[in-house]
Amino acid sequence: MAEHFDVIIVGTGAGGGTLAHTLAPTGKRILLLERGTFLTRETDNWAPDPVFVDGKYISSDTWYDGDGTPFQPQVHYFVGGATKLYGAALYRLRPEDFGEIRHVDGISPAWPVSYADFEPWYTKAEWLYHVHGAHGEDPTEGPWSRQYPWPPVSHEPRVQRISDSLTKAGYHPFHAPCGILLNEADPPASICMRCATCDGYPCMVHAKADADIIGVRPLLELPNVPLLVNSEVVRLLTDPAGRTVTGVVVDHGGDGMEDVYTGDIVVLAAGAANTAKILLRSASDAHPAGLANGSDQVGRNYMFHVSKAVAGFGEEANDTVFQKTLGLNDFYLAGGDREWPLGNIQMLGKSNAGAMKGEEPHLTKLVPHWSLAEAAGHAVDFWLTTEDLPMPDNRVTVDREGSIHLAYTECNQAEAAALYEEFRKIANHIGLAKHHVLHKSFYMSMNIPVAGVAHQAGTCRFGADPATSVLDVNCKAHEVDNLYVADTSIFPSIGAVNPALTAMANAIRVGEHIAERLGATGSAAWAPPPRTAEAARPESAVGRDS
Ligand SMILES: Cc1cc2nc3c(=O)[nH]c(=O)nc-3n(C[C@H](O)[C@H](O)[C@H](O)COP(=O)(O)OP(=O)(O)OC[C@H]3O[C@@H](n4cnc5c(N)ncnc54)[C@H](O)[C@@H]3O)c2cc1C
Repeated sequence: MAEHFDVIIVGTGAGGGTLAHTLAPTGKRILLLERGTFLTRETDNWAPDPVFVDGKYISSDTWYDGDGTPFQPQVHYFVGGATKLYGAALYRLRPEDFGEIRHVDGISPAWPVSYADFEPWYTKAEWLYHVHGAHGEDPTEGPWSRQYPWPPVSHEPRVQRISDSLTKAGYHPFHAPCGILLNEADPPASICMRCATCDGYPCMVHAKADADIIGVRPLLELPNVPLLVNSEVVRLLTDPAGRTVTGVVVDHGGDGMEDVYTGDIVVLAAGAANTAKILLRSASDAHPAGLANGSDQVGRNYMFHVSKAVAGFGEEANDTVFQKTLGLNDFYLAGGDREWPLGNIQMLGKSNAGAMKGEEPHLTKLVPHWSLAEAAGHAVDFWLTTEDLPMPDNRVTVDREGSIHLAYTECNQAEAAALYEEFRKIANHIGLAKHHVLHKSFYMSMNIPVAGVAHQAGTCRFGADPATSVLDVNCKAHEVDNLYVADTSIFPSIGAVNPALTAMANAIRVGEHIAERLGATGSAAWAPPPRTAEAARPESAVGRDS
């Protein structure tokens, strides 16, 4: 039996890494357990072929879909979790997302907290993760108590022209909120080069505000927060009554040797699928259907967004490097002549031939590399997101060997199709409708298949009612006194914007609650850094070089 801790956190991604950062200043003994290792800094970090064609940073896991067909999920097991590869587009949910929303295929349920309740933690997360943006530009956003710590990243000329054209046509584009380290005064002082390799790539210069760089690495020198990598949590043990987690069983590297760690509080933040897997594998006499699963909700209500990556091709060459600076929420909510909410449109990292090959192997198989490279030089890339619904049969289960099965039936396809139609109208306004070689209506679009689990959420939702939720409002398991969850599993609904900021904000919220429970109130579980002169520039000041 290994030593005892005040808190054990499983997983170091957006949820776990942020939670550790929140709790570390309490001085409590906190053990971080991470199944991956630190992602190696190497030139491959920025090379499209290793990243997109070879999938070098994707786990070797095999999961199975609802029919039992195996697939390789796009999960990333590193310190920092999926945020090592993420695009760092750090959006808040809209206030309406915290309430009930009617969709074409059903109801998106309300959260047990309101946007107003949640807002202070969004602000803290934005300041912690160095978000660059401009509150006040997007008409759909909710009230904010504090401006972003840094002004938005400026649009490059092609994107600025797109923004201007959209505004002229009556749309409301805004600067996308972006978590990057762009300022020398911005500790830990790595400088983002605004290269094309942010979205989907690890950052070789460590200038992406991910959960490793921002959450975990600053803690490594602290004596009270040991980190064990190569440490996969396989199950939790409880007392005979099933009310208290008494042990965290860890496999250090797949050799079959298991250690057991103990903590007063245990927090799962292993990502939506793996958190459910751990609970389901922790079945006992007291919890025969899986730990904390008396409601039969563990693993259910899996969501991952109805998403589409779209590359539009225009006559005009697109020499943009850092492209993901623009967002558009004009179709986010229902209203006017729009019966249903359609979702969010944002720009993606700039595509290139390697990425196109990796993402669309069938479509691009016979196309020579030079031709793809030329097409990519004209491509303007967008990401379309429609909300999907928490449906009980969209669920994670685990077989006897411990493999994840992910049953998923799509929904809200009519809304996604309508959003794509809106995108096509927009394309007419921004010079993507005509091309001297490609047909006017040619768009390369990619529907994200079930393996695209990047935005996985919802498998252990929080709520007031133990019959319909796994966790209470503080994200503590209804049925277990010392077990919490702090990753995207907790989402009762997912909205139609990227999930990471909400996971980070919630982790700070849960961390402050745990600090208070441990009697650490007053030890400043987390406080936003002071606003610097640079950050205090007016909102209209755009980017570092404007
Ligand atoms: C390519 C890509 C681009 C993305 N872009 C964006 C974006 O621009 N904006 C945005 O908001 N979101 C984005 N996302 C999604 C975002 O990264 C996730 O929503 C977020 O990281 C989820 O946080 P989490 O804490 O739930 O899980 P993760 O961040 O994945 O963390 C889970 C952690 O648990 C570890 N773990 C898993 N199982 C175990 C176990 N049994 N024992 C110990 N450790 C375990 C994992 O290794 C990992 O470190 C992107 C994701 C990807 C993959």
